[in-house]
Amino acid sequence: MVQVNDNYLKLKAGYLFPEIGRRVKLFGAANPEAALIRLGIGDVTEPLPLACREAMKSAIDEMGTADGFHGYGPEQGYAWLREAIAHNDFQARGCEISADEIFVSDGSKCDSSNILDILGEGNRIAVTDPVYPVYVDSNVMAGRTGDAGDEGRYAGLHYLAIDADNGFAAEIPSEPVDLIYLCFPNNPTGAVASKAQLKAWVDYARSNGSLILFDAAYEAFIRDPELPHSIFEIEGARECAIEFRSFSKNAGFTGTRCALTVVPKGLKGKAANGDEVELWGLWNRRQSTKFNGVSYIVQRGAEAVYSEAGKKEVQTLVNFYMENAAIIRRDLSATGLTIYGGEHAPYVWIKTPAGMDSWGFFDHLLNKAHVVGTPGSGFGAAGEGYFRLSAFNSRSNVNEAMNRIAAL
Ligand SMILES: *Cc1c(COP(=O)(O)O)cnc(C)c1O
Repeated sequence: MVQVNDNYLKLKAGYLFPEIGRRVKLFGAANPEAALIRLGIGDVTEPLPLACREAMKSAIDEMGTADGFHGYGPEQGYAWLREAIAHNDFQARGCEISADEIFVSDGSKCDSSNILDILGEGNRIAVTDPVYPVYVDSNVMAGRTGDAGDEGRYAGLHYLAIDADNGFAAEIPSEPVDLIYLCFPNNPTGAVASKAQLKAWVDYARSNGSLILFDAAYEAFIRDPELPHSIFEIEGARECAIEFRSFSKNAGFTGTRCALTVVPKGLKGKAANGDEVELWGLWNRRQSTKFNGVSYIVQRGAEAVYSEAGKKEVQTLVNFYMENAAIIRRDLSATGLTIYGGEHAPYVWIKTPAGMDSWGFFDHLLNKAHVVGTPGSGFGAAGEGYFRLSAFNSRSNVNEAMNRIAAL
């Protein structure tokens, strides 16, 4: 009989969202009249920008002509999109990133998992706790961890707690680590990292020869001009970091699919024989072999994000969600809850009231306010005692949810 990848059997059966689903279903069966408001999901709700839709429509028409037809494109993405990204997202902010260091893809979720293909098995890996579960589970699947122990923590991973005590800033570990996953603005806590905090990580990585995997999926939600949008705003980051970006949250591409990964030339790792090897070449080879590029139509849609009209529409979308976040912050604070995040990220991270753990607060909001959120403990042991609400929803749903919570 064929053998399976046993590493998959170590996974803690993706229990968070199925368990939420189970409880919501039970509640729905017992309360068929209740109108639930879901503030738990990390998916956008507002329509795609017109500029992107128009660009994709004309790309479809082009594809219907002999001259404008496009078959396989470059696995790394079309040069015009890579140029637009390098110019607008990086060079305009003073980052020395060129178009050929940008790899266009169909998602940051896949890129942040696939990157393990080019990294060795012996790396000591650090993740924050709470964490975006993809970083942990992809390491489990790739056999880079041991088994899960108490509280769902996997042997072999270094967990860096981020909580109110340390201002939700990941602290440099005392033991050396080779690979560090950082996500700022952070999902789930909504925390941000200052330039000084990122500089400490870059300095650490350079002196230890470590690699930082920096997930900037939420950079568009940053409001404070002093905060860094990219790890490459930090001097020396080209020597120690790879960055993931996505059009999912800023331009509403969660269902359209386009993202990018930045691998600086000259960034190196070590082979088993001690030779230094450029990661750019390995990632280029990985993508060329295992990936066939993003659809021409979608890349034209992504390019339109950088048009004058596209920039305005994206800003309007981001502003809309951030106004939702401000309403959630204001109304929850008024009820006496302690809250974090939601200022530079579309997530509000709530301290659960005394005597209630994450799931207790989940049940409380579900049963009493008919509002669905996400228990912090589902993102890691250090998320226990916290709860995530997302600002991705209609204004009327956000207002209604806040009214119901205020009335408890
Ligand atoms: C939503 C999200 C992404 C984006 O993933 P895509 O696959 O590009 O849609 C990446 N990282 C984090 C932490 C996210 O929450």
